[in-house]
Amino acid sequence: MINQASTALTPARADAYRLLRDDLMLHLYGAEYHATKAETWTPDDEAIARELIPDLVNVLNGALLAHEGNCHGRCRFCRETWPCATIESLHRAVKDPKRQFITLVETVRA
Ligand SMILES: [Zn+2]
Repeated sequence: MINQASTALTPARADAYRLLRDDLMLHLYGAEYHATKAETWTPDDEAIARELIPDLVNVLNGALLAHEGNCHGRCRFCRETWPCATIESLHRAVKDPKRQFITLVETVRA
């Protein structure tokens, strides 16, 4: 039997997780803001975007690699049956036909 009390977050740890998540999301919102700002992009904006896109791809690749399946069919990070919830979420986002990932791949293959 699993001891429920041992798996619950303490209030301090929950606050720390929330602060970490909020900090990471602030960076992602900054990237999104850069891409969606209304003004015409300057050469500096384009240069930032050219560096930012590979950085974001590295973040996604890092998550994919961390959540690879092991030889027992389980995620080596979160121990769920593979594909775990993280891989399912990334798959939904990358394979969403309304996003540019699909368009880019079709353009490259054409
Ligand atoms: Zn996982």
